[in-house]
Amino acid sequence: MSQHRDVVVIGAGAAGLFCAAEAGKRGRKVEVLDHAKRLGGKILMSGGGRCNFTNMYASPENFISQNPHFCKSALSRYTQWDFIALVEQYSIAYHEKTLGQLFCNDTAKDIVDMLMQECKQANVVVSNRCEVGDIRFEDGLYYVQSAKGEYIAPSLVIATGGLSMPKLGATPFGYKVAEQFNIPIIPTRAALVPFTLHEHDKSVLGELSGISVDASAGCNNTQFNENILFTHRGLSGPAVLQISSYWEPGQAVDFNLYPNGDLYEVLSKEQQQSPDAQLSTALAKVYPKRFVQSALPYLNVENKPLKQYQGKQLAQAAQAFMQWQLKPNGTEGYRTAEVTLGGVDTDYVSSKTMECKSQPGLYFIGEVLDVTGWLGGYNFQWAWSSGYVAGQAV
Ligand SMILES: Cc1cc2nc3c(=O)[nH]c(=O)nc-3n(C[C@H](O)[C@H](O)[C@H](O)COP(=O)(O)OP(=O)(O)OC[C@H]3O[C@@H](n4cnc5c(N)ncnc54)[C@H](O)[C@@H]3O)c2cc1C
Repeated sequence: MSQHRDVVVIGAGAAGLFCAAEAGKRGRKVEVLDHAKRLGGKILMSGGGRCNFTNMYASPENFISQNPHFCKSALSRYTQWDFIALVEQYSIAYHEKTLGQLFCNDTAKDIVDMLMQECKQANVVVSNRCEVGDIRFEDGLYYVQSAKGEYIAPSLVIATGGLSMPKLGATPFGYKVAEQFNIPIIPTRAALVPFTLHEHDKSVLGELSGISVDASAGCNNTQFNENILFTHRGLSGPAVLQISSYWEPGQAVDFNLYPNGDLYEVLSKEQQQSPDAQLSTALAKVYPKRFVQSALPYLNVENKPLKQYQGKQLAQAAQAFMQWQLKPNGTEGYRTAEVTLGGVDTDYVSSKTMECKSQPGLYFIGEVLDVTGWLGGYNFQWAWSSGYVAGQAV
């Protein structure tokens, strides 16, 4: 038997649950359908289990899209301060970790519980383990086939997210719906993702697994200054994840392994104070010893007593650390990526309501859209903001 609703939301992740609760508060009869076993799976996994739920400094500059203006309206109508107020209303304890990134003190489950409570209070029905099938549009209504039968609604919200982490339930469902209604997709690729290395780099750098150093990473006129982490598979850490969203296959990444000063000055001072010390000893005051031992031969820097270096030679040694260029082999892909770059073309979607311009009643929210945030709570803020504005419109 067909079931009539005002709004059907497909995808019970961050954006879908938030949108559903907002629509429910407006008196709309809302049903949320999700095929995953667990609701809010990505939220539970996020931020190392503590969910970096927003960023105090979130602004449109922290998002990547073919149309950088698209996110402005939603981000200003539902801001990070609005979400923080909600978190406080639920007495969820949180803290700033670094760079404005806000995390739960206890567990990401607090955020999922809050969203479920918001849905419950707004009489929203949320169903997991519910496969969704074909969608049909007829006479202003959407007909959605699902494991729970057919739903009919004038408003259909697609909140099925991106392709990252298929193990958590990610599918290309949203992109297929867009294609069905002739809405173009900006090509997708894994982002906020570790780099893999060519064999000659991996054989050396793989040995450094577990070591992290402060660094800036840059390419395509963008640079992030956080830290990088050597792993047995390649390179990770916040600066690497951030720059991966800007990197194109085949390009080199510029690393500065002494991003907050001048390594040459440090080494010159050491040369004056301890001329008999080896360069490696001086560098070991700046970097972990194991890193120095591998980095010197890898960067083709000779290790000898500091007094044997001419000024220019010492400058070259410093430069090797401050201007290290590395060509990644690729990325770890969707298996470990935090987000998906690209998605539903925002030129075809209203920035005020998230409704498709050419398809009345069809909405896209969250990561399925071509809006990708930096690392640091920005992606959840996009889920809340886009979910909110759609929730006011459906
Ligand atoms: C490991 C990890 C950690 C992260 N940490 C952070 C963080 O700390 N801070 C931050 O801001 N961002 C973080 N992110 C990114 C953030 O989780 C996403 O950007 C955000 O969840 C997107 O919200 P969404 O609602 O659009 O999609 P999702 O939260 O991915 O929800 C999509 C939902 O749709 C469902 N779905 C998919 N296909 C179908 C289908 N065919 N039928 C039915 N249902 C379907 C899925 O099961 C899922 O429940 C992290 C991502 C990962 C993978």
